[in-house]
Order: sequence, then C-alpha cells, then structure tokens
Amino acid sequence: MCGTTRACADPAHRHVRPFERGAQALRTGRRTLLTGATAAAGAAAISVAASRPASAVVPTDTRRRAYVLVIDGCRPDEITRTLTPHLWALRQGGAWWPNARSMPVMETIPNHVMMMTGVRPDRTGVPSNAVYDRALGEVRDLDQESDIRVPTVIERLNAQGFTTGTVLSKEYLYGVFGERATYRWEPTPTLPVTGHAPDVFTMQAALDMLEADPHLMFVNLGDIDRFGHADVTGGTVKALRTTALVDTDHQVGRFVQALKDAGTWERSLVMVLADHSMDWSDGSDYITLSPLQEADDLLAGQVAIADNGGADLLYWTGPDAQRDEAVDRMLAIARSADGVLRAFSPARERARYRLGDEAGDVVAFCRAGRRFSDPDPWSNPIPGNHGHPATRPIPFFLSGGAGVVPSGQVSSAQASTMDVAPTVATFFGLRHGSRVYEGRARI
Ligand SMILES: [Zn+2]
Ligand SMILES: [Zn+2]
Repeated sequence: MCGTTRACADPAHRHVRPFERGAQALRTGRRTLLTGATAAAGAAAISVAASRPASAVVPTDTRRRAYVLVIDGCRPDEITRTLTPHLWALRQGGAWWPNARSMPVMETIPNHVMMMTGVRPDRTGVPSNAVYDRALGEVRDLDQESDIRVPTVIERLNAQGFTTGTVLSKEYLYGVFGERATYRWEPTPTLPVTGHAPDVFTMQAALDMLEADPHLMFVNLGDIDRFGHADVTGGTVKALRTTALVDTDHQVGRFVQALKDAGTWERSLVMVLADHSMDWSDGSDYITLSPLQEADDLLAGQVAIADNGGADLLYWTGPDAQRDEAVDRMLAIARSADGVLRAFSPARERARYRLGDEAGDVVAFCRAGRRFSDPDPWSNPIPGNHGHPATRPIPFFLSGGAGVVPSGQVSSAQASTMDVAPTVATFFGLRHGSRVYEGRARI
C-alpha cells in the first residue's frame, strides 16, 4: 500500500508537511523558482537551490548525463514489444538484468532511498513507507528530509561540483528527498487521495528540467503504481493498469526522443527500473492482525501497527522489561494468522534483514494474493498491493548512448535497487571506498 496523507491530515501533528515547508521556503527566499521557458509556460515550477555552494572540484567529464527513470510498481513481465514498445526497445538495446529485485520492505520510499544511497535500511533509517514513530506516538510516513540518515549520491555529486535534479511524482518522495538536489520539481497538480502527479505532468517537468541540464536527473513516474492500486480488475483484466502502462511508455518515449533531438543521447546513461512490482488481492483477502494481538492479555493496548500493504510492522509500546516475552507472543500470533507468509523479529535477525530499529519489533509479510488491513478491516480496501516478497521482481536495465553502456547484454546477476547509486557514482568517476555502497556498480 502507498499511504500518502494518513499521518499528515491532522494539523495537530508535529511534523510539517513537505509542501507546506516548500511553500514556506519560497516565501522566505531560501529558494527561487527557475526562470525561463519553464516559468513562462507555467507548466512546471522548478526550484533551484538559492544558496548552492560553489563547485569544490571541476568534474573530469562534464558532458556526461545520467537519467534514472523509476517506473513505479511496474512488473518485469509487463514490458512487452506490443504494450510498452519504447521501454522494450530500451531494454533490448541496452543491458538487462532479468533477475533484478526490490529490497525489503518492498515499498516506494525505502527503495527510492536505497537507490540514491546504495545501502540498506539499517543504515538509511528508512525501512518502509509507514512506521510507528515512537517519539511522536503515532504512525507516520517517512516523508521528512531528515529521515534519511546517510549521504545520497545526489549530495556526493553536488559536493564535487556536479548538478542534480529530482522530478518525483509523489508528495512523500518530494518530502523525503527534500532540498538535496540542485533543481527540484514539486509534483503538481496532484490528484486527491493518491497524492501523486499524473505522468503527463511529471514528464513535462522532466523535459523542462532538461533546459537546466543537470548531470543527474532522478525521475519517478507514479501512474503505473497508482492505477495498479486502484484497479479492481487487477488480478485478471487489468484495465486501468494497462492504460497506465501504455501512457507511461509513451512518456518515456517522449523523453528519449528529446535526448536524441538535443544530441544528449550519445553521452547519456539512461537507467530504467521499478522500486517494487505489484500484486492483487480480492475484497475479502485481507489480514487484520490488530484484533488478534488485542485479544492477548499481555499485548492488549500495547502494540502499534504500521500497515504497509504487503507488510505489517508491529511495535511493542509496553515496558522494555517485557519486550522479549511480548515479541515471542507477537510472533506466535502473526505466524498463526491465515495468509501470513512469514513473521520475524528484525532485531533477532539483524544480519539477515538489515531493516534497523525503525522497522519495529516484528515484521509480517503476507502471501501472494493477500494484503494487510490494520488496525481495522476497512483500513486498507485497495486491491493492488506491494511490500511482500511476491512483489520483489522488478524491471532493471541500462540504456543510453554513452560508450560505457553495454548493448544487447543480458545478465543473470541479482541486481537490486541499491545498485543505482554506485552505478551513477562510477559513471561520473566519483571515488568511493568499498564500504560506502552495498550495491554494485552495473557499468
Ligand atoms: Zn504503490
Ligand atoms: Zn512504488
């Protein structure tokens, strides 16, 4: 599930919505809008850092450009010659990793953060979309700039004198990456409920940002995911989803054509991947763990649950002295629930999952074709979901005309979302020690 406004709707909440913060930054002059054709057309308001530090180092090859296009929630089997001809052509002409995967929890925010940091959630601080924030005493999305605890490749590039841009269709992605990039587009207009800008607007912003010509542009196209969530025909007909695939493919085609028209293609790396794939459940196929936990004498009133669609994150809120016993019970209850694939303690299996303390005391994954709906059976009515292992396979391929991109190559290696940052860093010749990235450069 992609909760968007759940934790932000209440003005009493202490954390500030990203958009309000952005508007305030504009008012106080900490940011200025990019002027020129973009502003004149009124199509996209792109912010540029007002107090960007002067270049510390002159890049060795300033002509190279990298574009990371995230087709949010796309399944690898959805890229076909007939349905998505532009994506298919990029894949066929470049280097393709058919066994690529999303990393747990297979949600949007953590995997975008892994893309830009190249490390796992116990280092990024971002294991899922929604967590129970112990300090706030409430469930919230990890949509604050301060939620990412390690430097991203965006900051590493900026520090070396390169310029960067983010064009992210979802409000919470705009929030978590915040003001890191040199150029930023605030998604607008966003649809109510989904909190995302349709791909036609997002792509227009990406095309407009080409005029500013950042070395790295990080783009999230949200339609495939959003229409996948809403598609009640998801398991069979996939009517809405198919429409979104065709349209998003068209938008990617526009972008590639713009690069070719401008002569940029020959010196570009175009990286295309998804953050996770998508699974569908029928109306009654939900799992609600909350009442099961509440029925236990020890756990009643002392367990908070952050619902992430295909994954439930459970937090013990009682005394520390009782934590071990509570975790044993939470695990036993979750494992006995119908539809639960696996439940584990991130702390007890630290080395295996690397999710960090933010993921709570117990994480439960659902089986394929199921979803969590917590704390109530009506909390998550949407048919499309991700977060669980069934949504791990992702499209992942490199294209572009830069000489470093191998053409027509297929690799059986398990590429992952963590590979984006080291690939981009290598492309731009950034030096990094072996411990900076856990992902691998794929060029
Ligand atoms: Zn989603
Ligand atoms: Zn996503």
